[in-house]
Amino acid sequence: MSEYKIGYGEDIHRLVCGRPLILGGIEIPFEKGEEAHSDGDVLVHALIDAILGAMAIGDIGKLYPDTSEKTLNMNSMTMLKEVFELVIKNGYQINNVDTTIILEKPKLQEYIPLMRKNIANTLDLDIDNVSIKAKTNEGLGPIGEGRAIKAVCVALLTKK
Ligand code: MG
Repeated sequence: MSEYKIGYGEDIHRLVCGRPLILGGIEIPFEKGEEAHSDGDVLVHALIDAILGAMAIGDIGKLYPDTSEKTLNMNSMTMLKEVFELVIKNGYQINNVDTTIILEKPKLQEYIPLMRKNIANTLDLDIDNVSIKAKTNEGLGPIGEGRAIKAVCVALLTKK
């Protein structure tokens, strides 16, 4: 009998000038990007925390501390690949993931198909099992003022 495990993840980064905006492994043309030790891919960070949460094996900060040489400017899709190897090693399978990116600007609709494809390929999933939604914060707070970007994610895993 298999057992379902759900995981939740969230992440937030400041948006600053002079940094690329990386989401789902692609660079989105914009005047600002995530301030971070790694490449700052806030979507992938939330996704990683959801997957680790479903397996109850800690969080991204434990695996990839922002004080280490290894994670300096690290590509978050590489982290995701390594986390997927842990999924396999621990006898889990990912059913689906559902994410939301919260940002004031830019509009992401045209980039979402490629982000979904990148994540589906890395996690060996059908694209139908990778959902990415985007919304604004209605002008409220630091996200609404364009000073931050946030992502939240749930992931459903099966323990085989
Ligand atoms: Mg992060």
